Amino acid sequence: MGKCRLPCKNVSVRMSDAVERKVFAIMEFELWYLVLIPVLFAAGWWARGLEAREREENSRQLPEAYSRGVAMLMSDRPDKAIDPFIEVVRLDPELIELHHVLGILFRGRGEFERAIRLHNHLVNREDIPEADRVKALKELGEDYLTAGLFDRAEQTYRRLLENPSEHLDALRALLKIYCIEHEWTSAIDVARQLEVQGGEARSNEIAHYYCELAEGAVRAKDLALADDYIRKALDNQPESPRANITAGAVSAALGDGQRALELWQGVMKRTPQYLPLVLGRIADALVQAGKREEAVALLHQALADSASIDVMEEAVSRIAALEGNAEAQAAVLQLLAGHPSLSAFASLISLRQKENPGDEQTKLLSALLQRHSRRLARYQCSKCGFLASSFSWHCLGCGAWDSFPPRRIEDAKGR
Ligand SMILES: [Zn+2]
Repeated sequence: MGKCRLPCKNVSVRMSDAVERKVFAIMEFELWYLVLIPVLFAAGWWARGLEAREREENSRQLPEAYSRGVAMLMSDRPDKAIDPFIEVVRLDPELIELHHVLGILFRGRGEFERAIRLHNHLVNREDIPEADRVKALKELGEDYLTAGLFDRAEQTYRRLLENPSEHLDALRALLKIYCIEHEWTSAIDVARQLEVQGGEARSNEIAHYYCELAEGAVRAKDLALADDYIRKALDNQPESPRANITAGAVSAALGDGQRALELWQGVMKRTPQYLPLVLGRIADALVQAGKREEAVALLHQALADSASIDVMEEAVSRIAALEGNAEAQAAVLQLLAGHPSLSAFASLISLRQKENPGDEQTKLLSALLQRHSRRLARYQCSKCGFLASSFSWHCLGCGAWDSFPPRRIEDAKGR
């Protein structure tokens, strides 16, 4: 480079400027580079420090929030546990078990949308164990069921059927849905699967499902179909009071009064506690068959033997129709002497009011007593305590069948 400087001065000056600019540029770059390294290093150190401080802060907050949530659960205030648990889950999304707890708490508080969102999120997470996804799917089904979204609940439990460990529980949940939705044919199909796959005794329930189908067919005036269903009910449970009572009703509608009478009399003999449900039917069938005296004798015998208010009401109205008002009043007075009750007194005043329709005071008194008597007419599920104003074969509270004794609470309390 030194040899060229004199003969090529202008060029060498231009070259020298360019080189110098380049050198300075390199020097500037190296200088910035040298400055940048410690700056970047410092920034990294600061960021690591920040992360560590955040981690430290989170780990300090996590047990604190977790403890608060647990304390709320222990003090029986689950709705107050939700906020601390949300905080814990935000700080550590890997706490899957706590997600499950939170979902159940949302559902318990009626926040179905949040519960469904949370469980859906877990079901779709690929990074959590299969067992947790299955658990979330089960909870999702429960969310839909509790929220009354039965179609979605059904779809969810159908997905759950594919998992062997949850298969039977999914079938039981589906059975519950079909009963709520009155899809009796599907209920029969699922109950049969539970019998075969789970070894569960379901024949009594299946008989009830066929009875429901038969009653629906009677309402639709398809008596041949009703007869087909009720025969299947009896095949499942030959001595079922309901199947026999319904079979009698179908036979009577088909014009076979004798078979109807035999079926109802069979119920009275085998299960006398169901007398309130068959007494009136038997008496009416006897009258239709020309056995009026037998009907009257049966009604008086039932009044003498049974302390049931329903039996009294069935018997008194028919005695009044068959033997006259005075005879019915005499029967009620006799009953009142042995078993005084508001319902029996209401029946007596009602009979007297019919005898003297123009007596305003008796009319008012009769209306008042009837109103109070109806208020007391309650039937109670023996399994869950659910109260119904009329007798039912199926409890809407707990879903049990045959759980209502055919006896009013007023009877059970000795009137
Ligand atoms: Zn119940």
